[in-house]
Amino acid sequence: MIHIGLDFDDTLMDTRKSIVNVYNKQLNRSIMFNEVTIYEISELYGQSFKDFQEFFVSNQDELHLIEPYPFLQETLSRFANEVKFTIMTGRPVEWMESVNKWIKENDIVIESLCASQFPNGKIECAKLNGVSLFIEDHPAHALAIAEGGVNVLLIDKPYNQECQHERITRVRDWQEIGKILDIIVFR
Ligand SMILES: [Mg+2]
Repeated sequence: MIHIGLDFDDTLMDTRKSIVNVYNKQLNRSIMFNEVTIYEISELYGQSFKDFQEFFVSNQDELHLIEPYPFLQETLSRFANEVKFTIMTGRPVEWMESVNKWIKENDIVIESLCASQFPNGKIECAKLNGVSLFIEDHPAHALAIAEGGVNVLLIDKPYNQECQHERITRVRDWQEIGKILDIIVFR
């Protein structure tokens, strides 16, 4: 059975959009989400990383009210008999409960979930688990995974435009991912 690793934030749900919405409301700002091209959103609001961590922890419920990306649930369900999906997130362990809750509330069909807190990050987690394909948005993670010998589907984002590697295929959304999985799984 093919084993596919899934990033969580900005791969399964639009976490950044949620963060911008909640920050705007709380700090009375009007930053337009679509214009955000830098990765560290908290910097736009003059927040340190420590501030951001506190913000995230105290607003976890509201931040996770956002729906899954279109076509995500259908795609995961469609391949559930042929593919093992494991979420491998770089989130700290303390932020995992909100991931669990969101998955249950949104009927996300996955095999398991792990916080990839290994010294070498996600590639080590992927290799230990026999993952042959990884779906990711973060440019540094995608590159490290590709360089480690695992193919990556990189979700196209404003902040990952520079990211290129022979093992990285850029995809638009979960509909396109579904079409690629059709070829990989049913060929
Ligand atoms: Mg991500």
